[in-house]
Amino acid sequence: MRLSRYFLPVLKEDPKEAQIVSHRLMLRAGMIKQQTAGIYSWLPMGFKVLRRIEQIVHEEQARAGHIPMLMPTLQPADLWRESGRYDDYGEEMLRVTDRHKRDLLYGPTNEEMITDIFRAHVGSYKDLPLTLYHIQWKFRDEIRPRFGVMRGREFLMKDGYNFNLTKEAALHAYNRHLVSYLRSYERMGLQAIPMRADGGPIGGDYTHEFLVLAETGESEVFYDSQITDLTFGDRAIDYDDVAQCQAVLEEFTSRYARTDETHDAALFAQIPEDRRRSARGIEVGQIFYFGTKYSEPMGATVVGPDGARVPVHMGSHGIGVSRLLGAIIEASHDDKGIIWPEGVTPFHVGIVNLKQGDVSTDSACEAIYAELRARGLDPLYDDRDERAGAKFAGMDLIGLPWRITVGPRGLASNKVELTSRRSGESEEMSPQEAVARVQ
Ligand code: ATP
Ligand code: MG
Ligand code: MG
Ligand code: MG
Repeated sequence: MRLSRYFLPVLKEDPKEAQIVSHRLMLRAGMIKQQTAGIYSWLPMGFKVLRRIEQIVHEEQARAGHIPMLMPTLQPADLWRESGRYDDYGEEMLRVTDRHKRDLLYGPTNEEMITDIFRAHVGSYKDLPLTLYHIQWKFRDEIRPRFGVMRGREFLMKDGYNFNLTKEAALHAYNRHLVSYLRSYERMGLQAIPMRADGGPIGGDYTHEFLVLAETGESEVFYDSQITDLTFGDRAIDYDDVAQCQAVLEEFTSRYARTDETHDAALFAQIPEDRRRSARGIEVGQIFYFGTKYSEPMGATVVGPDGARVPVHMGSHGIGVSRLLGAIIEASHDDKGIIWPEGVTPFHVGIVNLKQGDVSTDSACEAIYAELRARGLDPLYDDRDERAGAKFAGMDLIGLPWRITVGPRGLASNKVELTSRRSGESEEMSPQEAVARVQ
């Protein structure tokens, strides 16, 4: 993409409404625009990052054997009357009436709808196990939408639902989700710690939230510092291997890590004092096993091997796709701007032309731009007629991992400058080497 032809409405001033750094940087970098409280338009660069996060989620769900689909945003109220949640959910639910005076709602989550789909089409244990998911907009009429996309009212969520014959099988699905989530967050450059949590309105006895540690997080968390040494990395995992998935769950949940809702001061006190931590965290996902909570009242049953009809065991699993943009920026920025992890960056590399209009500088930039694209990379070429300082500040603000700076002085000895956004270090090298290094 050439910056002169892109739509990147960068703000010069700090927006007053932004209380936290990620919100400020997303507005300044022209990624989002608020339309009304908690409802945002995703401008091209914000949309690009959102799509990259979605892509990682899709790839990791596919690896775990979970099946993508898409359910609508509007749901009939009757489904929620069946589960009893139409009244329970309270004011967070946006209720709508259509022209025929039928009650609808903008889905805050999809347990009822997926259970309805299941009961309409699945009748035998032979069709199990089954895990379906979608990535779809949700609406929750949050009392205090704030911090930009972190607590929106309309927000994008990945939500998945597993159906199993037995509790054991459903707990394997739970463990599989835990593993796939660990992998997903790590690919986004994040450490998200699974913590024992509370079921809330979704319900359930088994539930973990994934938290990114950050001072601006809205959750209070308590943990054993040893947990932050754990990483999943690129170890091989067989998602059908029950014991292997269980072992990962045990490894990542055996040390104390809880949100304030389930915090147990006496247990916490047993951890050696130098390892006890209390901190703030951002909830970027949650997994639940809730057994037959929905399948029983809604009649989602299958015929088991013995011929008897039984309600299926279910769980649900959510990732806050749009919230993740904020969480990633909270975890990765400096005073100049965003520092995108490679896995989610909107463009791989920026090209800065120091002397736009100079024939040899322009043609060197064009050659680098073409070569990067030929290699399947996605460069952003700042080809505007702007001062070098403004171009550098803009690149630092939007936070691409690499910058290639091209000017007449370096080119005289066939050199460009390659700069790492994260370390700030620059190195001179030939254009060919620079292209090879960012790949
Ligand atoms: P919170 O405690 O922050 O209100 P939640 O526990 O109500 O979140 P879940 O029902 O667990 O949310 O939904 C799954 C994920 O969706 C959450 O882990 C979070 O990352 C994301 N999410 C929830 N509410 C919002 C929101 N208002 N804006 C953006 N993302 C959200
Ligand atoms: Mg909530
Ligand atoms: Mg929560
Ligand atoms: Mg939650």
